Amino acid sequence: MSIMYKSTRSNGDKVTASQAILKGLAEDGGLFVPDSIPALDVELETLAGLTYQETAYEVMKLFLSDFTKDELMYCINGAYDDKFDTKTIAPLVKKDGAYYLELFHGKTIAFKDMALSILPYLMTTSAKKNGVKNEIVILTATSGDTGKAALAGFADVPGTSIIVFYPKNGVSPIQEKQMVTQKGDNTHVVGITGNFDDAQTGVKMMFNSKELAEQMDAAGYQFSSANSINIGRLVPQIVYYVYSYGQLLAQKEITCGEKINVVVPTGNFGNILAAYYAKNMGIPIETLYCASNENKVLFDFFKTGTYDRKREFILTTSPSMDILISSNLERLIYRIAGEDAAKTKELMDALTNEGEYTITPEMQKCLEDFVGGYASEEETHATIKNMYDKTGYVMDTHTAVASHVYEAAAKATGVKTVVASTASPYKFTRSVMNSIDTKYDSMTDFELVDKLTEISGVKVPEAIEEIRSAEVLHDIICDKTEMEKTVKSILGLEA
Ligand SMILES: *Cc1c(COP(=O)(O)O)cnc(C)c1O
Repeated sequence: MSIMYKSTRSNGDKVTASQAILKGLAEDGGLFVPDSIPALDVELETLAGLTYQETAYEVMKLFLSDFTKDELMYCINGAYDDKFDTKTIAPLVKKDGAYYLELFHGKTIAFKDMALSILPYLMTTSAKKNGVKNEIVILTATSGDTGKAALAGFADVPGTSIIVFYPKNGVSPIQEKQMVTQKGDNTHVVGITGNFDDAQTGVKMMFNSKELAEQMDAAGYQFSSANSINIGRLVPQIVYYVYSYGQLLAQKEITCGEKINVVVPTGNFGNILAAYYAKNMGIPIETLYCASNENKVLFDFFKTGTYDRKREFILTTSPSMDILISSNLERLIYRIAGEDAAKTKELMDALTNEGEYTITPEMQKCLEDFVGGYASEEETHATIKNMYDKTGYVMDTHTAVASHVYEAAAKATGVKTVVASTASPYKFTRSVMNSIDTKYDSMTDFELVDKLTEISGVKVPEAIEEIRSAEVLHDIICDKTEMEKTVKSILGLEA
């Protein structure tokens, strides 16, 4: 069966998976969604015997149905290789009654690697399939994690280059160091004087400029996006939920067909949407717990049916979830609206213009797969400390938000629960160590790294080891009004 992709905001022409990957966003501003969610065509019990790569093939062949087997195998084997520090790619670790699905064993030690290590392969294969001759220029605005994962993924990939904009004073020192030391002739990192929203707005303006697109085309370039709204990021994320079910079976923790819960620390709603797709493909998932930090716009939405972004933006110690507009929620809205594009557009327009929308009672009924939960800063830190005291296992702040929601809500159901663990504690060392004991606060970042190794017994990941002494290779700074000029200068276009 062949799956095509359509926009959430109009009933225009459908595109193939490879075209959707190249475009990123539909022309009407909507997101691409599959015209149906395919059912897995392997038996559940077979999953127990599949490797990560084999599982990836079983999932991706269904969603990316215009890719040949050879093309998919090339993408999968190129992405999930020894860049990951474990052969299992996404280990499932049982701690204190729950199963932590560790998604941070890739190059930049956060779960973004799960999708961004394969996206460059999917993108260049899509370009080839569609006869694109231009070099693909990936433009990205980042608040920290995505930028580095995208840089690492696209570095030295033939036929591509990547330009990342980050707020000069808005990312952590480790995050900045990770980006400005990135190797690869086709990588460019630019700090802007402005905040993340300025960076994001500047990038969107370039994507929407017809004039710039023409100038680019004449010089043999075209833009694409590595943003989490690209289905080339969503589809690879379904894989690890299917894989985790196979792992539970293989480890004899569940019987075949037994239902499980999933808890996901959520920001842009991409990761949990992938779990929802896994459920719709036939993975026996009972409830999807959507865990938020103090920016609990999604918790309120699941409780009330009103999505209201008009609130204070809170800076927390789980910064990758500090988000008030969860872009991927639009795909769920479209589905619970009965695939009504006009209704979806109306709600999304209301969000842009009035800052809020309310779904209908019928739509709210379709949300019964989801339960919202959240953790305060205090609860997040206590969760890290409790787990460490009890088991010696150290988790990062984002995972701790989910772990708190497991303890507070999912545990009592008695259903076996997978908690998505989205970052290594080494990525947020200071917050993690401070949670365990405030006496560590006076230490430098790298002293904390060494201390973490000492108390956890987990080796310092390569991603951290290499930035200790790495040379700064990127030092471009520009004003937020000069982003386009900077892109032109990087690409050698006339200003
Ligand atoms: C991006 C990110 C999240 C949020 O994931 P979404 O798909 O945006 O919901 C959670 N934790 C970490 C560490 C992340 O980098």
